Amino acid sequence: MSRIRGSNTSIEKLVRKELFRKGFRFRINTKNLPGKPDIVLKKYNAVIFINGCFWHGHIKCKAGRIPKSRVNYWREKIDKNIERDEKNLRKLRRMGWRVMTVWECQINNNLGNITNRIEKFTLKHHVN
Ligand SMILES: [Zn+2]
Repeated sequence: MSRIRGSNTSIEKLVRKELFRKGFRFRINTKNLPGKPDIVLKKYNAVIFINGCFWHGHIKCKAGRIPKSRVNYWREKIDKNIERDEKNLRKLRRMGWRVMTVWECQINNNLGNITNRIEKFTLKHHVN
């Protein structure tokens, strides 16, 4: 099981460290933005969410699967989180932000690959 939004766990730190190394400067857990994005790249109009697979319902991966016991309890809880996440993404987009979500499992699988993708996403459409 992973984490709840707002805590500052190691996967987030890993990504931040890599982005910093690439020269990006950003703010973290900006409280005045919907959903408190994990990384805010204001200059690029981009925000990044780093989602724990279990709590945010990454159904495509093992870690996101609902436990076999108390299925309804977990289903309801995770569904609520998914719904809240989607609502926050819509709000952010309406505010003009570009939003990217990355998953815990992707970071664990290949940190280099995911930071490259974040870099590409951040720089895309950006006009100096
Ligand atoms: Zn996952």
